Amino acid sequence: MPSSSSQNWASMIMGAPPKDTNIPRNGFSMKKATGSTYCDRPKGRLFPSIYTILREQKPTSKIVVLHHWDDYARLVEDKDLTIRKHTKTEDSTAIAAIDVITKGMPDLLFLHFDHVDHAGHSIGHNTDGYYKAVAKADSLVGVVIAALKAAKVYDDTVIILTADHGGKGKGHGGPSMAERNIPWIISGPGVNKNVALINEVNTYDTAATIAYVMGLTQPACWKGKPVLSAFKKK
Ligand SMILES: [Zn+2]
Repeated sequence: MPSSSSQNWASMIMGAPPKDTNIPRNGFSMKKATGSTYCDRPKGRLFPSIYTILREQKPTSKIVVLHHWDDYARLVEDKDLTIRKHTKTEDSTAIAAIDVITKGMPDLLFLHFDHVDHAGHSIGHNTDGYYKAVAKADSLVGVVIAALKAAKVYDDTVIILTADHGGKGKGHGGPSMAERNIPWIISGPGVNKNVALINEVNTYDTAATIAYVMGLTQPACWKGKPVLSAFKKK
């Protein structure tokens, strides 16, 4: 799992590693990514994502993607989504999320704040400025949680907080753990509180965990496994 963005965002939503999704790096070939058939789906489609299987299995679902990183758009198929919007700043991402939640809570909402990555590149990872950006992301998550509470949907919402990669110096893309290690935090109904996950969690387990939470059957071509240790025993 090399530590640049595209392949990790893809694996996160597609439940499979880069060699399966055909999205191995930022400069991937769109022709190659759509050139194979995946999981018996028609040629020309990307490897099926959590958005694809939610649209297939629960067709009336409201699926909203708000992405601060412009190029995230290449990794999703708009026909799977109800709304996709490229938000220009971290603040406008949070404001758009509040608007969406207030108008009617989606079944699945993806939010991306890109300013932490920007701080890593401009100021450097593991610096005061970097952690200021992390603190801002934390406060924006707080703003979104307040909107969920105001809309009275917080108690029914599972939240996963994660990232595509870490970094060192002013970059990322290499194999070091500082670049590859990511946070993975889950909270909500049915989820254990204040417990550290001791098993390894891979980026592609995120899609599998969302499928598990939403009662979806995951495609045979996915390699991800739901992080069951995070959930209370039924
Ligand atoms: Zn970056």
